[in-house]
Amino acid sequence: MAKENYKNNDVELVIIGAGPAGLTAAQYGARAGLHVVVFEQLAPGGQVLLINELENYPGIAPHKNGYDFSQELRKQAQDFGAIFVMERVTLVRKEDYGFYLELGSGAHLSATALIYATGAKHRKLEIPGEERFFGRGVSYCATCDGPFFKEKKIFVAGGGDAACDEAQYLSNLTPKVVLVHRRDKFRAQKSLADRVLSNPNIEVRFNTVLKEIKGAQKVTSVVLETTGQAPKEEEADAVFVSVGSVPQTSLIPDAKKDEAGYIITDQNMAASVPGIFTAGDVRASSFRQVVVAAGEGAVAAHSASVYIDMLKGQAY
Ligand code: NAP
Repeated sequence: MAKENYKNNDVELVIIGAGPAGLTAAQYGARAGLHVVVFEQLAPGGQVLLINELENYPGIAPHKNGYDFSQELRKQAQDFGAIFVMERVTLVRKEDYGFYLELGSGAHLSATALIYATGAKHRKLEIPGEERFFGRGVSYCATCDGPFFKEKKIFVAGGGDAACDEAQYLSNLTPKVVLVHRRDKFRAQKSLADRVLSNPNIEVRFNTVLKEIKGAQKVTSVVLETTGQAPKEEEADAVFVSVGSVPQTSLIPDAKKDEAGYIITDQNMAASVPGIFTAGDVRASSFRQVVVAAGEGAVAAHSASVYIDMLKGQAY
């Protein structure tokens, strides 16, 4: 399908992903008068759907669960005119007129600008009990779930910056944090690693892997194996898995990414490909939180609006 220029495009702004970043971008984009279409794969919310109590989002009290929060964000965006389509985007191609997109159904469309808010998935340990006890002792976010385990015995798995950050955060809630890392030294930055190693509330066990998470209604123990020793079972109240994450970037192969695969943007959320903006967990940043994703979504929509206005200005 050949378009002469962006003016014939089907949509001004396409947003891929309907987590807090995508939903906030949809609201801001539609409110700025853009024709906005959001593609979502399942229910809106993304990883936020996993949150039982969103207790650290500013100004929301009493706390909501992730599902209710996402539904309200979506409704707000819809009320401003954003259109939601439950379809998987399977292909994105940059063209002179903007972007050509293909959908899972085989349909296709053109857009002037894109916001990628596709998020990232937590890497899993893939051990027995991890999935079964998710939300009942197993967590991937200390800031979200740590406060439920005050004074409890908590295991953290991982050896990177995130695992050290998570252990450090949890050590303010309980003196019984055990950080388990599979190698004999941390991958984390030295400053973070040193802080963890000198923290009296954190016991670090190198060359140790979690083999299994056990319990009945909730986590009660873990099975650990330290190199050269037989596996042993130990009491546990919670396991925080922090072994990296996998950004969902398969649709944007050309945009610049950092070493871990996250999309690099400027402060306006513009990626290295003109017309592509990025917000939320798929973007390279050091603090991945719902409120941060929402803020980035607002900036991305504003920047996309400025970009579209600039194209219009050039045309007249
Ligand atoms: P990361 O740097 O990739 O580290 C992942 C850690 O998990 C590594 O120690 C790795 O072990 C371990 N691991 C991976 N798969 C495992 C498995 N199956 N079983 C056991 N352990 C496993 O990931 P990250 O810590 O989430 O950080 C991601 C990015 O965000 C990094 O660029 C990081 O610098 C940045 N970040 C920065 C900050 C900060 O600056 N404060 C905080 C958080 C994140 P090996 O070491 O053996 O490979």
